[in-house]
Amino acid sequence: MKSDKELQYLTKSLLHHPSPYIIYELDGSIAWANLAANYIFNLSSLEEISVVKIDDQVKDNFGDPESIALYYDTPVEISLRRINFLMRTRVHMIPVDTSDGIMLIELLCSSREGLYALRKTIDCIENNRIELAYQKQVNLITNEITGVEALLRLQDGDGGYLRNDQIIPQIEGESLFSLVVLESLAQLAKFLAVKDKIGFKDATLYLNVSAHTIMHPQFCSIFTDFVDQHNLKDNQFGLEVTETAELADLAVARESLELLKSKGIKIALDDFGAGYASLKYVRELPIDVVKLDKQFTFNVSDPTTARLISFVSELCKDLNLEMIGEGIETEEEKNMMIDLGCKTGQGYLMHRPDFLESFKTKEL
Ligand code: C2E
Ligand code: MG
Ligand code: MG
Repeated sequence: MKSDKELQYLTKSLLHHPSPYIIYELDGSIAWANLAANYIFNLSSLEEISVVKIDDQVKDNFGDPESIALYYDTPVEISLRRINFLMRTRVHMIPVDTSDGIMLIELLCSSREGLYALRKTIDCIENNRIELAYQKQVNLITNEITGVEALLRLQDGDGGYLRNDQIIPQIEGESLFSLVVLESLAQLAKFLAVKDKIGFKDATLYLNVSAHTIMHPQFCSIFTDFVDQHNLKDNQFGLEVTETAELADLAVARESLELLKSKGIKIALDDFGAGYASLKYVRELPIDVVKLDKQFTFNVSDPTTARLISFVSELCKDLNLEMIGEGIETEEEKNMMIDLGCKTGQGYLMHRPDFLESFKTKEL
């Protein structure tokens, strides 16, 4: 432990440091967390949090007086009450005196929104507040169910749900998000166990994943293991991948998707047309399904939009890809989508996302 005087000096000088950080002593204890870090972890005492592992290379360099100028961007394993997770951090060396020192572990978080998302996600993981809702995908002409999409529902603790668009984009690149994916898979297992009974026998079960997730080799094997464990046949399980900047690393994305596809996992390109590289992805990535972004459906009565929809449906036909129209809310939209060549759709008109329990009760 540092002397109180040293800590006092340090904490005073860091008082107004804007980003979240914790001060870690070489004996393993945490001596201080600034307000922002307290806000993320919701700490009532510093004992509730500990640092399990810091990269050895970082530790080995510690103690060198020169090292005050050094810092390392490194993942650090953190233990918070009953969960362990990795966080992206920047570890600074601060030699307090000549023989000894402390580490300042800065939690990398680029914005206030990012901070909010981190806090809420940790809260949900800690308190088992992660759920999935399911929404049917149907053949617009026969009404037959072709697929079902699992959608993340993070409870806010007050009986409501956090908004996916405020949380997921902020957090999906963090290692922490892997805990959410693992919990989602645990819940999908429960869905699969009753899938046939509740009317989804021939439907593909889709999970949304970010490019960050599928481009991580370990994650690919988590999905392929999932398929093996549950003995899933070709096309029983699928992943909806959203266009993001990360997909731009096409060689890596293609490799991951090919591996997943070789295990019979169906690959859908989500929100097609909302990004800027949609056509490139269709050309370069081994996809099976194009999910047309709901903004197209919302504007289907606009002639230019209608032309674009019909262009996409022609393209899908030519390339032998399935096409799913998202966000169908009215009969008019449905009929126009059919006319424009889109035969499969998803939206509030046909079905609103619902929890597994409600499918079970309806079945009884
Ligand atoms: P998405 O994959 O494009 O999902 C469709 C979104 O549109 C869902 O919102 C769904 O509830 C909503 N929706 C469905 N039908 C209609 C409709 O007729 N009208 C309107 N206005 N909306 C409709 P949600 O659940 O809020 O999800 C938003 C986004 O969050 C998803 O977009 C997806 O990109 C992401 N997301 C959801 N679950 C997960 C997940 O488990 N993992 C990851 N990485 N992302 C997820
Ligand atoms: Mg989706
Ligand atoms: Mg979508």
